Amino acid sequence: MPMLSYQSPIQFQSPLPTDADVVVIGAGIIGICTAWFLRDQGLKVVVCDKGRVAGEQSSRNWGWIRQQGRDYAELPIMMESMQIWRNLSAQIGTEIGFRQNGSLYLCENQNLLQSYDNFLKIAREHNLDSEQLNAEKLYSKIQNTPHLWSSALFTQSDARAEPATAVPAIAKACLEAGVSIIENCGVDEISIRNNQIEGVKTEQGFIKCNRVLCSAGHWSSRLLSDIDIQLPQLSVKASVVRTAPAPLIFDGNASGSNLAFRRRIDGGYTLAMTDYTEVFASLQGLRQFKTFLPLVRLAAKKLKLRLYDESAQINPFNEDADYRRLDANRVLNPKPSIKTLKRMREKFDHKLPVFRDIAFVESWAGMIDATPDAVPVMDCVDGIEGLHVATGFSGHGFGIGPAAGKIMANLIQQKPVGHDISRFRFSRFSDGSELILGPSI
Ligand SMILES: Cc1cc2nc3c(=O)[nH]c(=O)nc-3n(C[C@H](O)[C@H](O)[C@H](O)COP(=O)(O)OP(=O)(O)OC[C@H]3O[C@@H](n4cnc5c(N)ncnc54)[C@H](O)[C@@H]3O)c2cc1C
Repeated sequence: MPMLSYQSPIQFQSPLPTDADVVVIGAGIIGICTAWFLRDQGLKVVVCDKGRVAGEQSSRNWGWIRQQGRDYAELPIMMESMQIWRNLSAQIGTEIGFRQNGSLYLCENQNLLQSYDNFLKIAREHNLDSEQLNAEKLYSKIQNTPHLWSSALFTQSDARAEPATAVPAIAKACLEAGVSIIENCGVDEISIRNNQIEGVKTEQGFIKCNRVLCSAGHWSSRLLSDIDIQLPQLSVKASVVRTAPAPLIFDGNASGSNLAFRRRIDGGYTLAMTDYTEVFASLQGLRQFKTFLPLVRLAAKKLKLRLYDESAQINPFNEDADYRRLDANRVLNPKPSIKTLKRMREKFDHKLPVFRDIAFVESWAGMIDATPDAVPVMDCVDGIEGLHVATGFSGHGFGIGPAAGKIMANLIQQKPVGHDISRFRFSRFSDGSELILGPSI
């Protein structure tokens, strides 16, 4: 399935209701999965997206459903998410390419392997099947590759799925269950009166409601700043390639110190570089840049600071009101970095010669929404009754999306969420808490 853009036909166009119990802003995996778990509670749920369902990060990601390497507070949620993913295809009646074939972190040396010791400890506490593989065990799992690595971290129960199919398929199931989903329907403003949500102003009209979920990915910070709520977010552009069908190397997800590949359901691979991503600071981001210094230091080698990217309409110096219009950027479709694509071709041909005759048939980029500590916000907003936020999944929201949706559905209904989500509270950015950096973006 090619990447979605604003030219892709509209597939979800429920009529705009005048009122709803809950309005979800953003039809990525987080918004759609929240709607999925709200659907059978008898609530009237509307999902509005300025562009297309899963048009942005949720169809552009690598498709890893990964427990391996997760933050300590994310891991139990991710393990629940895996249970949800396992039954999803059957529940929604669509093949979404879910395969539980494991993740490998390939290591060139012992130091790299040891850097995962802390994660292994957390994994054991949760009875997760992560293990270290020596060279012999590693090469019994992968084939058609030179012996470049001496060991690996491996989690057999990790999985993969096809993002561009999965999220629209869940959305379709939501629609059939009575959720309204409206594409090309940006929310211009969250309306608040006396510190209470009273509705949302959309491009198509007003929807009266007293509960709102902001799950607008890269745009959450901007949407919230319009109601004077500051969410620190950095935009990180990552470029991706899809290959033609290729011989089997490994049937799951694998990454090393500079490359990553994931087997696809069509027999090709989704490829990426792990050592090159571009960071864009919005005007607000520039003001908050100090907050991001620990994150920038963590990933210093792979992050390249950029000021603007016209293909993604990111230009902190452009004050033109038209530039901010939702319809000016229906589907954020940044151009992949030419430099990354070139390096990808060279690295893969050199390191994994099996790719030398395999065409790169499609390339795209996605804009990751990173928080200063590289873990998301899943919370209600203090002081505004009915406002909820689930965003900033920092490059790993696809796998955890279903359980994050379940948490948000419960939170919205003021029911127990079944996990300790205090690490994901919104106030950590403003209450003077020391931020604890997650493992990666
Ligand atoms: C290249 C890349 C690789 C990745 N690889 C992985 C991976 O392998 N595994 C993993 O777990 N995660 C991965 N991720 C991260 C994952 O894709 C994201 O964390 C996840 O998709 C975020 O989902 P979301 O619903 O929060 O945001 P999004 O999918 O970005 O959706 C937000 C939606 O909100 C809409 N919106 C914004 N503003 C408004 C508005 N005002 N009104 C209405 N709608 C609005 C947008 O149009 C958009 O559709 C990757 C991300 C990228 C970019």
